Amino acid sequence: MSCPLFLRSSGWVSLFMTLGLASLLSAADPVLPPAAPAPAAPALAPELPPPQLTEVWSPVPKVVSAPLGAAPSDATVLLNGRNLDAWESIKGGPAKWRLDGDTMVVTPGTGAIQTKASFGDVQLHLEFRTPAEVKGESQGRGNSGVFFMGIYEVQVLDSYNNPTYVNGQAGSIYKQHMPLVNASRPPGEWQSYDLVFIAPRFGPGGVVESPARVTVFHNGVLVQHDAEIKGATNHRGYPAYTPHAAKLPLQLQDHRDLIGFRNIWVRELALPGAKL
Ligand code: MG
Repeated sequence: MSCPLFLRSSGWVSLFMTLGLASLLSAADPVLPPAAPAPAAPALAPELPPPQLTEVWSPVPKVVSAPLGAAPSDATVLLNGRNLDAWESIKGGPAKWRLDGDTMVVTPGTGAIQTKASFGDVQLHLEFRTPAEVKGESQGRGNSGVFFMGIYEVQVLDSYNNPTYVNGQAGSIYKQHMPLVNASRPPGEWQSYDLVFIAPRFGPGGVVESPARVTVFHNGVLVQHDAEIKGATNHRGYPAYTPHAAKLPLQLQDHRDLIGFRNIWVRELALPGAKL
C-alpha cells in the first residue's frame, strides 16, 4: 500500500495510519452508553381470596310470584274490578264512587275516597284513564290525585297537550316537583303509575328525622326519582310537615272529573334499615 508523499518520510506515518484505523474501527463499533440497570421483575399480584368469601347465602329472599299484568302474590289488592270493599269515603261510610265493569269511576262531588287499611312505606301500582271527551283545560281537565297517607299528592291529570303549571301536571308531586318528562297518553287511554313511597319519620317533639320520598314510573317511564317531599302538597302556600302516624290510609281525589281507575295493588315495604 502506498502512502501520500507528505507522510511517507515521516515517522508519523504509522501513527496516522493507526489513528485512521482506530477511527474506522470506532465508526464501526460506536461506544454505547452505560447499560441501564435491568428492570426489576414485576411484583407478583397478591393472591385473590376465594370467590366464596363474598358470597351470601342467607337469609334467602321470600319467593314472590309475579305474573305478567297481574298483582304480585304478596300484594294487597285494593281494586279488583268486583267491588269497592277496600275503600270508604273520607267523609265516613262507603265509597260513593261507582263501579263500571272493572273500572272504578269518580262520582263527582261525592268526595275523595280512602283505603280502609293504613300504609307507610309502599310500592303502589294503579291504572287510570282520563275522560275521552276532552273538557276544560289546565287543572280543570282530567284531574284526580294519589294522596299517600292522605297528605302527599302525586298528581293525576290529563296532561296530553294540556299546558298547566309544570309542577302540577301529571306525574308531578303537586306544587313541589315537576315530572322529569311528560309520558302522558291521549285522553281515554289507560295509563299506569308505579310508585315507591317512603313515609316521613318524625322524632321526639315532631321533628322531621327524614322526609318522605317518592319514585314514580308513568306508563313505565321514570318521572320522579327518589324525590324528596317537602311536606303536605298544599294547593295554596308552601309545604310543611305536621307530625302524623307511621301509617295512614291511601287516598284518591275527587276533583269533579270522570277519572276511571282499575287494577290497584300495593305492597308494604320492609326495606333494610328503614326505621318505623
Ligand atoms: Mg289532583
